Amino acid sequence: MKVIITEACMGDRNCNDLCPEVFEYNEDELKSIAKFDEIPEQYKEISRQAALECGANAIEIIEDDK
Ligand code: SF4
Repeated sequence: MKVIITEACMGDRNCNDLCPEVFEYNEDELKSIAKFDEIPEQYKEISRQAALECGANAIEIIEDDK
Protein backbone atom coordinates (compact mmCIF):
# COMPACT_ATOMS: atom_id res chain seq x y z
CA MET A 1 0.00 0.00 0.00
CA LYS A 2 1.13 3.49 -0.81
CA VAL A 3 -0.16 6.80 0.55
CA ILE A 4 -0.07 9.94 -1.55
CA ILE A 5 -0.98 13.33 -0.15
CA THR A 6 -2.11 15.78 -2.78
CA GLU A 7 -1.84 19.54 -3.03
CA ALA A 8 -5.37 19.72 -1.63
CA CYS A 9 -3.89 19.26 1.87
CA MET A 10 -4.91 22.26 3.96
CA GLY A 11 -2.36 21.57 6.66
CA ASP A 12 -4.65 21.09 9.64
CA ARG A 13 -2.44 18.14 10.68
CA ASN A 14 -5.30 15.89 11.71
CA CYS A 15 -3.55 12.96 10.09
CA ASN A 16 -0.37 13.79 12.00
CA ASP A 17 -2.30 13.65 15.26
CA LEU A 18 -4.08 10.45 14.28
CA CYS A 19 -0.95 8.58 13.23
CA PRO A 20 2.37 10.40 13.72
CA GLU A 21 4.18 7.19 12.78
CA VAL A 22 3.03 7.62 9.18
CA PHE A 23 2.06 11.26 8.62
CA GLU A 24 4.29 14.26 9.08
CA TYR A 25 3.83 17.89 8.17
CA ASN A 26 6.50 19.10 5.76
CA GLU A 27 7.29 22.78 6.21
CA ASP A 28 9.00 23.01 2.81
CA GLU A 29 6.14 21.49 0.84
CA LEU A 30 3.50 23.16 3.04
CA LYS A 31 1.55 19.91 3.24
CA SER A 32 1.68 16.63 5.04
CA ILE A 33 3.69 13.75 3.67
CA ALA A 34 3.82 10.01 4.32
CA LYS A 35 7.02 8.85 5.97
CA PHE A 36 6.97 5.53 4.15
CA ASP A 37 6.99 4.63 0.48
CA GLU A 38 5.40 1.28 1.30
CA ILE A 39 3.12 1.51 4.33
CA PRO A 40 4.00 -1.18 6.90
CA GLU A 41 1.26 -3.71 7.62
CA GLN A 42 0.57 -2.42 11.13
CA TYR A 43 -0.19 1.10 9.86
CA LYS A 44 -2.42 0.26 6.92
CA GLU A 45 -5.73 0.41 8.75
CA ILE A 46 -4.97 3.70 10.49
CA SER A 47 -3.82 5.14 7.16
CA ARG A 48 -7.16 4.22 5.59
CA GLN A 49 -8.90 5.87 8.51
CA ALA A 50 -6.83 9.02 8.10
CA ALA A 51 -7.84 9.16 4.43
CA LEU A 52 -11.51 8.89 5.38
CA GLU A 53 -11.18 11.58 8.03
CA CYS A 54 -9.16 14.06 5.99
CA GLY A 55 -11.40 17.07 5.58
CA ALA A 56 -9.65 18.12 2.38
CA ASN A 57 -9.85 14.64 0.83
CA ALA A 58 -6.14 14.97 0.21
CA ILE A 59 -5.01 11.48 1.22
CA GLU A 60 -5.00 8.94 -1.59
CA ILE A 61 -4.62 5.28 -0.74
CA ILE A 62 -3.18 2.98 -3.36
CA GLU A 63 -3.85 -0.58 -2.30
CA ASP A 64 -1.53 -3.40 -3.34
CA ASP A 65 -2.67 -5.54 -6.23
CA LYS A 66 -4.28 -8.68 -4.98
S1 SF4 B 1 -5.70 15.50 7.51
FE1 SF4 B 1 -5.66 15.96 5.31
S2 SF4 B 1 -5.69 18.20 5.18
FE2 SF4 B 1 -5.13 17.63 7.27
S3 SF4 B 1 -2.89 17.65 7.26
FE3 SF4 B 1 -3.56 15.55 6.84
S4 SF4 B 1 -3.62 15.41 4.59
FE4 SF4 B 1 -3.56 17.57 5.12
